[in-house]
Amino acid sequence: MLLRDDAFKDKVALVTGGGTGLGLEISRGLLRHGAKAVVVASRSTEHHERIREEAAAFDGAVESIALDVREPDRVDEAFRGVAERHGSLDVMVANAAGNFVVPSMRLKSKGWKAVIDIALSGSFYSCQSAGRIMKKQGGGSIVTIGTTYAWTGMPGVVHSAAAKAGVLAMTRTLAVEWAPLNIRVNNVAPGPFHSDGAEQNLWPDPEIKKRIEDAVPLKRFATTEEVTDAVLYLASDAASYVTGECVVVDGGAWLGQGLGH
Ligand code: NAP
Repeated sequence: MLLRDDAFKDKVALVTGGGTGLGLEISRGLLRHGAKAVVVASRSTEHHERIREEAAAFDGAVESIALDVREPDRVDEAFRGVAERHGSLDVMVANAAGNFVVPSMRLKSKGWKAVIDIALSGSFYSCQSAGRIMKKQGGGSIVTIGTTYAWTGMPGVVHSAAAKAGVLAMTRTLAVEWAPLNIRVNNVAPGPFHSDGAEQNLWPDPEIKKRIEDAVPLKRFATTEEVTDAVLYLASDAASYVTGECVVVDGGAWLGQGLGH
């Protein structure tokens, strides 16, 4: 990783969905790079046990919060609590999302609403609450997690594709609106990477997984470490002049969809 070991020294960070998959790796990365505190927030605090156990190896503290990002008042209260207890909220990563594969014709309104509520509305509530705190303290850095099918589209995940397209538009909008407040807002768009959630919901069958891998020009999935590197860069002062950007980490997959492949 190109970042200095102390890139997040004295910083307080919050990662939604920070106990599993990509979120867990981001939480680790923030601690590894000297964060004073990393707050992991999601519905199940059982999902935070691993990072809490690992915290002993780092100087920074880990705080676990039970939070459903679909509840804006609770999000606001929880984020304000973090800033009060730790003195600031410098970095917020809106990583929480839900997804499952279903043909659009069979998608029920409940399923559509659940994914939109978590991935899009939850990301907005998280950004809004973090933004309010960052405005008061004079700045901060936000990274949202998107995906490349936000612009390519992908059969079977219309709810998630629509939500992530919204997250990208929201990220760019907030970046411009909040630039005068010294708040940077960026997006990382990964291609497929392994997580238990994705394995269960997106490619439960090894054949489907192989087909996806074969379609990636680099012929493999990303690792969560590779995606985390982009998140940490954008969250850190190394990207102090970067805002409203979307960094794609997909092994060339979406470009590789052109003719000739
Ligand atoms: P994951 O491990 O299943 O992560 C999802 C996290 O979101 C979990 O920690 C979950 O924790 C949390 N969450 C879900 N609903 C929530 C809610 N209502 N309120 C608060 N937290 C909630 O999956 P992942 O693959 O690492 O995904 C991480 C991010 O990467 C997501 O934004 C996903 O869309 C994106 N992404 C993934 C891939 C991929 O191939 N895996 C590709 C592109 C983009 P709780 O269950 O404890 O709430």
